[in-house]
Amino acid sequence: MERGRQRRILKQHVKTDQLLGVDAVPLGSPAESPPPSVAVADRLTRARKLEVLTTIDEQEVRNCIKCDLCASRTQTVFGEGDPDAAIMFVGEGPGQTEDEQGRPFVGRAGELLNKMIEAMGLRRQDVYIANVVKCRPPENRTPTPVEAATCGDYLRRQIQTISPTAIVSLGGPAAKLLLNTSIGITALRGQWHELPYLGPGGSSIAVMPTFHPAFLLRQYTQDNRAKVWSDLKQVMQFVKDHPRS
Ligand code: SF4
Repeated sequence: MERGRQRRILKQHVKTDQLLGVDAVPLGSPAESPPPSVAVADRLTRARKLEVLTTIDEQEVRNCIKCDLCASRTQTVFGEGDPDAAIMFVGEGPGQTEDEQGRPFVGRAGELLNKMIEAMGLRRQDVYIANVVKCRPPENRTPTPVEAATCGDYLRRQIQTISPTAIVSLGGPAAKLLLNTSIGITALRGQWHELPYLGPGGSSIAVMPTFHPAFLLRQYTQDNRAKVWSDLKQVMQFVKDHPRS
């Protein structure tokens, strides 16, 4: 490999390591922005993606003791779905039901997420669903920035492997942790943000924050449902405008 390319790749790795790390740079702007562009180079096959994800899960995450969350988990919750999905949903962390079953979004909030996915004309198995942290935080508290940064390496590699066209972050904590911002979900949702460097060839991946299904269940108002639907419609249009090669 020629030196210039090696340097560029090294620089990119350093940057991606920073993205979800303690020294993370802001990953997106809260200001209204046009949908980001999508690069289409360097895609892995679906089979290869599945292989990579399975290896990370089975050989690293399941036995991971890199942060204190390992002490209280029943089991890790890596994520599931189509390894070649165009749309990836990311929540903050597993809850009690997820911790018991080892699968993301399987409780009441998961049922509502399934309905949201179906409303988009998709099935749950057509998308990929994961969380920022892979172990349940005690009492369902929000993961700390250190926990998110520690576990963030797994999420970064999931995103890089799946290389989705768009990510839908669910709820304020997931958006804040993913985009490294202190801005609340009310201001973040409905606008496109960018997760730099994690797409093919170091390109950005588009992120649409929206409300968490658990919040919707608590405040099931017409206004909140309309906002989430508006966000999901933007995602559907974006994916339609950027077909995968
Ligand atoms: S939350 Fe992530 S980093 Fe922490 S122990 Fe679980 S898998 Fe490891």
